[in-house]
Formats: sequence, structure tokens, C-alpha cells
Amino acid sequence: MSVLVFVEGLNGEIKKSSLEAASYGSQVAQQLGTTATAVAIGEVQEDALARLGEQGISRVLYDADSRLNQFVADAYVKVIAKAAQQENAKVLVFSNSNIGAAVGSKLAVRLNGALATNVTSLPKTDGGQFVVTRGVFSGKAFADVNLAADVKIIAVKKNAFEITQTAGNTATVEKLSAELSDADFAAAPKETVMQDTEGGVLLQEAEIVVSGGRGLKGPENWHLVEDLAKALGAATACSKPVSDLDWRPHHEHVGQTGITVSPNLYIAIGISGAIQHLAGVNSSKVIVVINKDPEAPFFKAADYGIVGDAFEIVPKLIEAAKALDK
Ligand code: FAD
Repeated sequence: MSVLVFVEGLNGEIKKSSLEAASYGSQVAQQLGTTATAVAIGEVQEDALARLGEQGISRVLYDADSRLNQFVADAYVKVIAKAAQQENAKVLVFSNSNIGAAVGSKLAVRLNGALATNVTSLPKTDGGQFVVTRGVFSGKAFADVNLAADVKIIAVKKNAFEITQTAGNTATVEKLSAELSDADFAAAPKETVMQDTEGGVLLQEAEIVVSGGRGLKGPENWHLVEDLAKALGAATACSKPVSDLDWRPHHEHVGQTGITVSPNLYIAIGISGAIQHLAGVNSSKVIVVINKDPEAPFFKAADYGIVGDAFEIVPKLIEAAKALDK
């Protein structure tokens, strides 16, 4: 029996959220007295796969079929299921990313497994149980669930676990072929278009996000968000009304009906902090809120709050960030 971690690649490297999943999977393996193997799909460089040893992964199975370079749910599920079968894996670990969530549910059906998404704890295995804690109601509450099926599938919440690092440890990389047929790619995207990103930072993967709301009054003032983002090497985001008003493109809208982000630092400028907005940002490690209304609900979720006029505060932050860079 082993623990199998599914890792996703981006531009040849392993995504940060997958490194978190690998660290989590290795700890679960240690708890169960077994080893953690990873299965990687798509365009990832071999040395990046070997470096998964630093997160405690002993072997990496890699399917290099170039048709897998873009996400196709059925094909990905087939590859992961093949790896799980080959390794006799009873615990499967993913990141709770869009891809992780999409393959997790399909795999649970295929392997007759029990799936827990948005997981925030290591399992408790007393008395033959396998209990994990998961965030529910947009992170407002937690639920403990016992994964009673033979195969347990865990999608780990982004930013909930540290990336463990044992420098110098390498994993062995082995080829895996799931013998995919054209039928496995029947529902493949025709084309993948990468988002047009300000300064080249992809919002979902950004370590720092600078986000603006209706408090910025209009698109003509967005240079404040952009300049601060540029000075910090951050991605830009916005609240829903801002994209509804066409001040910013829809792919920047974060929240319950937009993108979920979990950066190390989220800076909210002129955003009230409605529950629907918080749903997409509340797993950020540090939240800084700039709002002129001291009663704005966002302050309750903030680690640092600045009460004041964004048009006075943000230019000073930009200057300070630029000075840091020098
Ligand atoms: P406002 O609520 O208008 O807040 C503007 C803030 O700016 C205020 O707090 C004000 O004090 C402050 N301000 C004004 N001037 C300044 C200044 N000069 N300096 C500093 N601060 C200033 N919203 C999302 O964002 N994402 C979602 O995914 C989302 N999904 C939704 C789904 C549903 C079903 C519904 C019903 C709503 C959803 N909403 C979503 C909308 C959400 O309820 C809020 O209406 C929205 O988040 C408010 O956006 P805002 O904070 O930019 O604007």
C-alpha cells in the first residue's frame, strides 16, 4: 500500500499548490508507515520531477504523452487511476485546484473511493478511522469527515500546509503509460488561451495579489492598483461590480462567482469585504485592507487594516515598495 500524490505542472515546473500536496502526502505516508509516490502529467521538466524528493516523494511516475499537455479530465483520470492501481495506492492526494477538484470527483466514482475536498488537517487514524477536517460554507466552518471507503481521496486546501524541504533529496523518475486512446480525448479543449497578465503574473498562481473595488471610483484610477502590483511583482484582481461595470476584465474578478486565490499577501483597496468576495480570498495568508470606512466588514478578516483614503495611501505605498526594490 502506498500514498499517491497527483502533481500539476506549469511552464515546466511543479505548481506551488502541488508542492504543498506532495508535502502533505509524504506526511500521511510517514503516519501510515509507507512511502509516497507522485504521478505527474503534462509538460514538466524531469529535474523538477526529481526535486520532488525534497518534499519526501520517493518515486515519480510520469506520463509524457504530449496530448496531456493540456487538461483533459477523462484522460487525466485514466492516467491517475492506472498509477493508483499499479502502486496499490489506498490514499490519493491532490491540491484543491480546479483541475484537482475536477479529477477528484471522477476518480472517486471510478475507484469507488471516498473524497474529501478543501482538507485542512492531516488524518486522524485512531480506532481504524480515517478522519480529516475540511472547510465548509466558504471557509466559515469546519467539518470532520471519516473517509470509510477502501480508497481515500484528499484534495488539500491551498496554502493550508507548509512546503516541507529536505535539500538534496531526489526522487527517481519512471515512465508510466496509460495507453490512452482517441476516445479518452473526445472532450478535449480545442485551444488553450493563456490569460493576458499584467507584468506576467498569473492571478491563480500569484504570491501577491493587489485587488481593487468600487471605492476606486473608475477605471481611470486603476494605475494605482497596477503600479502597486508592478512594484511588488504582484498580479491584479478586482471585485465583481468592478468587472460588471467593465472597469476591468472578467478574468480578474475574485470571489464566490469568480476566481479563488490564495496568495501569501492579498491587498484589498476600496473593497467592502462582502461575504461573496471573501469566499474567494479568505485562504490568503496575510490580508491587508485599505478602506476609508472603519466599519467596512473586510477589516474583520484583515491581518492589517489601514483606515483612510486610498487616493492618499496607495501612492505612498507605491513609493515605499519602489524604494524597497532599490
Ligand atoms: P462596494 O460594496 O461599493 O464597496 C466599496 C468600498 O470602498 C466601501 O467599503 C467604501 O467604504 C470603500 N471606499 C470608497 N471610497 C474609498 C476611498 N477613497 N478610499 C478607500 N476606500 C474607499 N462580489 C465579489 O467581489 N466577488 C464575487 O464573486 C461576488 N459574487 C456574488 C454572488 C452573488 C450571488 C451576489 C448576490 C453577490 C456577489 N458579489 C460578489 C457582490 C458582493 O455582494 C458585493 O456587492 C461586492 O463584493 C462589493 O464590491 P465592492 O466592495 O468593490 O464595492
